[in-house]
Amino acid sequence: SQISRVTVVGSGNWGSVAAKLIASNTLKLDSFHDEVRMWVFEETLPSGEKLTEVINKTNENVKYLPGIKLGKNVVADPDLENAVRDANMLVFVTPHQFMEGICKRLVGKIREDVEAISLIKGMEVKMEGPQMISTLISEQLGVNCCVLMGANIANEIAVEKFSEATVGYRENREVADKWVQLFRTPYFMITPVQDVEGVELCGTLKNVVALAAGFVDGLEMGNNTKAAIMRIGLREMRAFSKLLFSSVKDSTFFESCGVADLITTCLGGRNRKVAEAFAKNGGKRSFDELEAEMLQGQKLQGVSTAREVYEVLRHRGWLELFPLFATVHDISIGRLPPSAIVEYSEHKPNFS
Ligand code: NAD
Ligand code: 13P
Repeated sequence: SQISRVTVVGSGNWGSVAAKLIASNTLKLDSFHDEVRMWVFEETLPSGEKLTEVINKTNENVKYLPGIKLGKNVVADPDLENAVRDANMLVFVTPHQFMEGICKRLVGKIREDVEAISLIKGMEVKMEGPQMISTLISEQLGVNCCVLMGANIANEIAVEKFSEATVGYRENREVADKWVQLFRTPYFMITPVQDVEGVELCGTLKNVVALAAGFVDGLEMGNNTKAAIMRIGLREMRAFSKLLFSSVKDSTFFESCGVADLITTCLGGRNRKVAEAFAKNGGKRSFDELEAEMLQGQKLQGVSTAREVYEVLRHRGWLELFPLFATVHDISIGRLPPSAIVEYSEHKPNFS
């Protein structure tokens, strides 16, 4: 069978770690070309040098993952079309808000036999309703698209601390196994699950709950309150996912992509961290401002996801059913104070 060529579309904090994981495996496995292309959204560093040139010179993404060698077989490429041209395996890992534009640029530019996987946590909301990012990729590019989600704080995996992940696939188990082979290392264990929507919605929705957890931290409400918020958030995640896709399985919420990602993100994620600062400031400084100041170019997904979820809830008349999701959005846009996060419990959610 043919030898696969892999390109990673994206080179942020997680994108760089994904390239590192993959590059360690393509060197070892005969069924993959050694070289891993990584598309870089080009920028000029304060030194005046281009990020791509520095990555290729130092083998480090000095801006988004400093101090970590990516592997000599990772080649940074600022030209999107060139980066994807020869690849038959495309790994999508950018902040979700950029994917629509990237997909448009890729139409007609990729090989016909491409298999895709999305590591992106987020969704789009269209007139017709919500669209998961894997569906956006599938529909725009006419390719099959799996997802990889999990309790995966990038900086921890970068230093090879043990973690787990979940690959969600639609029908073709062989393709899922190939993705597992490409990503798996002794410190990165992967379970394939036949539930693309469930896996992707877990990864997407937990970012909204992480904001709620961050508000609770900022208000110094303690561990019991935070645990309550996480429990109620998990319940809303499951209820929302099942209302959108009746095929979503309960068991998916017990995989790494479900409860484990919820826990790690509510303890150590960027959404949590910035939401804590937002609440500490009494909501007086915007998320955009805090994100720019605290994350040095990295992007939050939770604030836009909360808005996207809110739009779905409003359109479908489900606002009453999801008080935590709705309240997170209201707080993030300044319509409610951060302290409102606990008042949701006065409503009795209908899902047990
Ligand atoms: P990031 O938060 O580090 O974002 C920065 C990246 O966005 C940079 O590569 C930057 O060049 C790029 N960018 C900025 N403006 C752009 C534009 N206009 N067009 C295209 N790209 C642009 O990114 P990340 O951490 O790699 O996250 C990507 C996805 O992976 C997100 O959906 C995130 O939720 C998910 N994820 C992140 C982590 C993590 O710990 N970082 C873990 C698991 C999943
Ligand atoms: P944050 O984007 O909140 O850092 O979450 C990272 C993540 O998705 C861990 O799995």
